[in-house]
Amino acid sequence: MEALKQKIVQEGKVLSEHVLKVDSFINHQMDPFLMKQIGEEFATRFQDKGITKVLTIESSGIGPGLMAALELKVPMVFARKRKSLTLKEGLITATVYSFTKQESNEVTISSNYIQEGDRVLIIDDFLANGQAALGLIDIVKQAGAIPVGVGIVIEKSFQNGHQLVKDTGVQVESLARIASLKDGKVEFVD
Ligand code: 5GP
Repeated sequence: MEALKQKIVQEGKVLSEHVLKVDSFINHQMDPFLMKQIGEEFATRFQDKGITKVLTIESSGIGPGLMAALELKVPMVFARKRKSLTLKEGLITATVYSFTKQESNEVTISSNYIQEGDRVLIIDDFLANGQAALGLIDIVKQAGAIPVGVGIVIEKSFQNGHQLVKDTGVQVESLARIASLKDGKVEFVD
């Protein structure tokens, strides 16, 4: 997706060979016009999948997830990383190791919102080692629903997440694929 790649080049900050900071348009401030385009692109790529729900993880997946859900005309659910006082019964949980925080979190949804027979599109901001996406696939399966796709805004293709998710048989679509962050430069996969 060309507009996204341009934004990454103009505003992304390479923090190390492994980490890209995109706080000015995804992870802190959000660019709603770019998010709208991102939602449209996900909807186009997964339009034939009969999606009934979008599932993402708080907090940075909510922007792109909601825009995709709006385009697909289905509800969006976000998995919570912290225990909620009001979310107590019928919980579905997976343990996810966070790439950026380097710690494991329990991520949780209520079984009220993803149910047997749902066809679920999973959305996240980044794909690194695939732990967030695999955790969400696990949650969808525990709910008796079908994970039909994983949509990623920025994939770091030099890490192994893409392959791990693909190995589960779920279609993966990434809107920008980064081949390398070496020497402080972003290089995209052709
Ligand atoms: P994974 O679970 O695939 O290892 O990592 C994906 C999660 O870690 C995403 O939800 C994202 O929040 C975070 N993440 C991974 N790599 C980066 C990165 O280079 N930059 C930012 N901003 N977040 C990242």
